Amino acid sequence: METGHKTDTGVSVDIRNISLSYGKTPVLRDVTLAIKPGEFFALLGPSGSGKSTLLRLIAGFNQCQSGTLHVGGTDITNIPPWNRNIGMVFQNYALWPHMTVDQNVAFGLEERRLPRTEIARKVAAALELVGLADFGSRRPNQLSGGQQQRVAVARTIAIEPKLLLLDEPLSNLDAQLRLHMRVELLALQRKLGITTLFVTHDQEEALSISDRVAVLDGGVIQQVGTPMDLYDRPASAFIANFVGTINVISGTVTATSSGAIFESPLLGRVPLPAAVATSGSAQVAFRPHTLSLAPPEGQTAPGTIRIAGTIAGREFLGEFIRYNIAVQGNHLIADQPHYSGNIEFLPGSAINVGLDPTQLTLLPT
Ligand code: ADP
Repeated sequence: METGHKTDTGVSVDIRNISLSYGKTPVLRDVTLAIKPGEFFALLGPSGSGKSTLLRLIAGFNQCQSGTLHVGGTDITNIPPWNRNIGMVFQNYALWPHMTVDQNVAFGLEERRLPRTEIARKVAAALELVGLADFGSRRPNQLSGGQQQRVAVARTIAIEPKLLLLDEPLSNLDAQLRLHMRVELLALQRKLGITTLFVTHDQEEALSISDRVAVLDGGVIQQVGTPMDLYDRPASAFIANFVGTINVISGTVTATSSGAIFESPLLGRVPLPAAVATSGSAQVAFRPHTLSLAPPEGQTAPGTIRIAGTIAGREFLGEFIRYNIAVQGNHLIADQPHYSGNIEFLPGSAINVGLDPTQLTLLPT
């Protein structure tokens, strides 16, 4: 690597039983999380769930009351932030407005008292990596939001940290730039091979670029998995709803010799392939795009559950139309692809919803 980056293999991060309170308010509760070397890992959760607190704890800006933190196998729980060699990019970028881009990127290197020529070489290499080789003499206010974000990243990777932390790195950018920058960030991370943790409240962002995601709520890790794990096998109704849109139906489940039967007034008796440990109340979930819609006189494909309803409302979302369907005092969300020739249903119309039972996920209780 031109920067002399030593992180191609990445380091592991091992968070064990970390608890942190502000005064009497617990913010992180017994958090245990293992991040593998070289992973691009997202901390996802609603606002106030403790994501930034956990990131700042790894950086060394927050102290925990209990638990340990190992990075690359070394216990750094009690090491001050300046001795951790961890790079953090802040949400607002925290660039110095009175300094040029070059000076901003050089700042951390000067603090380390590196020789002048080495600083110049590392600054040029870091700016080259983020595509800003010709912007060194500009000041932050002469840059677009995306360019400022890249300077903040260049400044952090210039010090060759062993771990990169990003706090809502894309939230200050407009929607289109955000899509572009997230691809760039991932490409840069892959090039450097540096273990990277980023905080986001945007589920689409977390799912689209992460190797794995931890979902936090109320300072507790709710689930850890690949984006597809979380989407296809949510551990709870909270995760199912947070990671995309989903329909959740309550009923009862009965274990059988070959699997289980789920039963509810809306769905009737549905065999499930999943094995269940105990019979009793349960919830099943299914994604809106797995439902088919047909006029009442239309056919339902064999093997599908047919539910009669009325279109209560709809949203046009470009690639698809999201229908809100009133069914027996309940509501279902159904997404139908929008293309020329596909049937559109108007609010107030009677409708048949087709549900393929193989698309049902039994939520853990
Ligand atoms: P997130 O990043 O998920 O939005 P934070 O980690 O910023 O959440 O905050 C988690 C909780 O801790 C919130 O309820 C927040 O109000 C509280 N909190 C954060 N920082 C402080 C602080 N310095 N003092 C007291 N409470 C704080």
